[in-house]
Amino acid sequence: MPHFSPKEVEGLDPNLVQMLERARGFAGVPFIITEGVGSGGHHVINSAHQRGLAVDIRCSGSHDRMKVVSAALITGFKRIGVYDKHVHLDVDPSLPQDVMWTGVSS
Ligand SMILES: [Zn+2]
Repeated sequence: MPHFSPKEVEGLDPNLVQMLERARGFAGVPFIITEGVGSGGHHVINSAHQRGLAVDIRCSGSHDRMKVVSAALITGFKRIGVYDKHVHLDVDPSLPQDVMWTGVSS
């Protein structure tokens, strides 16, 4: 687990953690997980978080956003939410695949 502490990935699906590690390697910029399994914000309407299948990565600059999103695509994430202050990545198989949406961070 070179990039994330156990606390950061606590409760997350192991497959998601593995994909995050790979994406982090591609991105070359820090991945600061602002929300893993938690409540509040857009998680109320996003059940992937509650099931440990999603993370939000803090990201407010256009350069870092580009790095995070392109790394996520290379890694094979098929559900990506691009928000003004974070990028949401999830691997929930029960939700639509090959989607990218935009939103405003709460
Ligand atoms: Zn999220």
